[in-house]
Amino acid sequence: NRRIVLASRPHGEPTPENLRLETGEVPQPAAGQALLRTVYLSLDPYMRGRMSDAPSYAPPVEVGGVMVAGAVSRVVASQHPDFTPGDWVLGSTGWQDYSLTDGSNVRNLGAHLKHPSRLLGVLGMPGFTAYMGLLDIGQPQPGETVVVAAASGAVGSVVGQVAKLKGCRVIGIAGGAEKCRYVREELKFDECIDHRADDFARLLAQACPNGIDVYFENVGGAVFDAVMPLLNARARIPVCGIIAQYNATALPSGPDRLPMLQALILRKRIRMQGFIIFDDYAPRFGEFLQQMETWVDQGHIKFREDIIDGLENAPQAFIGLLRGKNFGKLIVRVAAE
Ligand code: NDP
Repeated sequence: NRRIVLASRPHGEPTPENLRLETGEVPQPAAGQALLRTVYLSLDPYMRGRMSDAPSYAPPVEVGGVMVAGAVSRVVASQHPDFTPGDWVLGSTGWQDYSLTDGSNVRNLGAHLKHPSRLLGVLGMPGFTAYMGLLDIGQPQPGETVVVAAASGAVGSVVGQVAKLKGCRVIGIAGGAEKCRYVREELKFDECIDHRADDFARLLAQACPNGIDVYFENVGGAVFDAVMPLLNARARIPVCGIIAQYNATALPSGPDRLPMLQALILRKRIRMQGFIIFDDYAPRFGEFLQQMETWVDQGHIKFREDIIDGLENAPQAFIGLLRGKNFGKLIVRVAAE
């Protein structure tokens, strides 16, 4: 049984030394337990927060503890009445080959599951985040301009496509020409701007001639600096993530923007609201899943998965996620289906 533990807390960008691969015996299920084989492991930006002991909405991973992750797994042995070998389960089982469950941390999905990896992306936590953040907090109206960064990623790709279904003009922001092309041509956003371009702020302004009504915040940092002057009166900003700041060890350079932001919020009556998806919206997961499955089946929502093979490659893939190396929902295939 291989597992990846937090070896030390990162300072700034995580390094391979912060994570350690350990090998041990495959555990055996006791009465009331089932043994799970991890098949697809989800890598997500929030894991950077769990590596740190700074105050957060969730407790950190202990040094020496297995890294947290959602995964889809299969039951391989069971001493639990609700689990049979061959069943698929979804739950928070961590960066490891095998785990034990008493049933409390996983949901049994039965023996037949057509597209297990989708439950980690478009039909799982990131898709749900996009759906609730955009619709409940963003409240997009037909004809409005919606802007979203990390637009080719798990959350951003769904935000923009749902906003298109609601009749909005949608501008994506992504890193590099290839991601921008995908966002425009495959996801059918109206425009996509490369945040690494020298004249990024000017290009964004040009793409938003009527200003911005909904800015779905995935990134923060320099992207938010460029968005601020374009915000319309009564704009809504669902604050979903600030990935540009997750590895920060110091305040951003330049003048303090807080007074400007507060003045803007006041003058333009802007509503900015953070949310933590399952803490705030868990009861609405069923509604989301039903709607999103329909949209995916009908071809209204496209998605892309970036699948890496091998648990041992998870640390590098995760470090890359915080640098924009992934292209689509980042998933590790730990074992064959
Ligand atoms: P993605 O699949 O979008 O991958 C992360 C992407 O972030 C990278 O590919 C990169 O895209 C972009 N990025 C990284 N660093 C920077 C930077 N410095 N400046 C600009 N862009 C950067 O990840 P997810 O879709 O899973 O997550 C998107 C956001 O949603 C994250 O902030 C995450 O924390 C947040 N989130 C929040 C939840 C909540 O409950 N509030 C739940 C789930 C996610 P590119 O190359 O295009 O720049």
